[in-house]
Amino acid sequence: MEGDQYSLAKQELRRQVVIIGSGPAGLTAAIYTGRANLNPLLIDAPADAEKQTTPGGQLMITTEVENYPGFSQGVQGPDLMVEFRKQAERFGTEFLEEWITQVDLSERPFTLVTDNSIIKAETLIIASGASAKWLGVPGEAKTPKGFGGNGVSACATCDGPLPAFRNKRLVVVGGGDTAMEEATFLTRYASRVYVVHRRDKLRASKIMQEKAFRNEKIEFIWDAEVAEILGTQEHGVTGVRIRNTVDEEHFTLDCEGVFIAIGHKPNTDLFKGQLEMDEVGYIKTSHRTTATNIPGVFACGDVQDSVYRQAVTAAGTGCMAALDAERFLDHLPVAMPTGEEVTIEGEHISPDHLKITLPSGEVVLNQPE
Ligand code: NAP
Repeated sequence: MEGDQYSLAKQELRRQVVIIGSGPAGLTAAIYTGRANLNPLLIDAPADAEKQTTPGGQLMITTEVENYPGFSQGVQGPDLMVEFRKQAERFGTEFLEEWITQVDLSERPFTLVTDNSIIKAETLIIASGASAKWLGVPGEAKTPKGFGGNGVSACATCDGPLPAFRNKRLVVVGGGDTAMEEATFLTRYASRVYVVHRRDKLRASKIMQEKAFRNEKIEFIWDAEVAEILGTQEHGVTGVRIRNTVDEEHFTLDCEGVFIAIGHKPNTDLFKGQLEMDEVGYIKTSHRTTATNIPGVFACGDVQDSVYRQAVTAAGTGCMAALDAERFLDHLPVAMPTGEEVTIEGEHISPDHLKITLPSGEVVLNQPE
């Protein structure tokens, strides 16, 4: 990347540790690197309803969290994130709320570009999380193309309390924990909540399933997919056209709101072509560490975890990323997947020990002389 390519940028910042994302993973990485006197800079996207971004991550749009250790009576997601943030601030984390438009990981220091800044980072911790997935059916797009924002939402906790949904019939699409949580939450406001699920079994945990089954306001529509969201721009959503996945029959279900709760997609578009990812876009990390294929770049939280996806596991990997970055900066031994430690002056040894990636990015074979 040429230096003057960013001439419109206003300030240049240089940091030992830059963290992207302010969910449990990013803020835990900030707490740890802050306590290690590395003065982390944490960059996060500004709140944007259209792009569905919320500083603080997904816990900012959830209600009660009952499984985060240390809170015997549960804690509200947003309250938990306020505490995370205060703790990161206490140890000197600097926050920058800007959209990152470009990233260059081809050499160290790595370069990040925002509308107002060019940031040079000796190490980068990616904790950019994941975003809600959409069905891609007619009627789902943002208004005026569809009814997004006019009866269609991907966040019950954000939009459920709106007057438009009070005492109305609402559809929740999905069969996971998010769908159960959203359906249960929406019964506070709705007259009826239909959970439309494409199979005859839920993916959600037993406890969440049972809570939803017990709720008299919730009705399950099994083996069913939403094929189209119906409505008018004047009145918003008026119903959904449903396709039965077994007999292919279609029918219309009247409703005034649709909440899509079918999972999330990792926020990794910025790094495509630079970092190794799986077919869905989750960043690949070296077994038992947070190291990516680029030495000095670490990934933690939901951006690299398609399996556990819990706040507590995100926080755990945020801690790991901070320790990995610290060790990388100190040229200390790095724990290898097989358990032994290998001293690598900024070099990254592949988990099978067959390749070494030099700080320059050059890959050499790890063969005896
Ligand atoms: P998820 O577990 O991946 O479930 C997604 C659901 O949406 C599945 O039932 C899936 O159907 C359905 N689905 C996916 N694509 C679809 C499509 N195109 N059309 C129709 N249905 C579709 O996602 P999640 O519920 O968001 O949960 C993600 C993780 O967060 C999980 O690990 C969960 O335990 C955790 N979580 C925990 C809590 C809590 O503890 N309070 C709350 C929310 C989430 P199939 O089942 O047929 O695949």
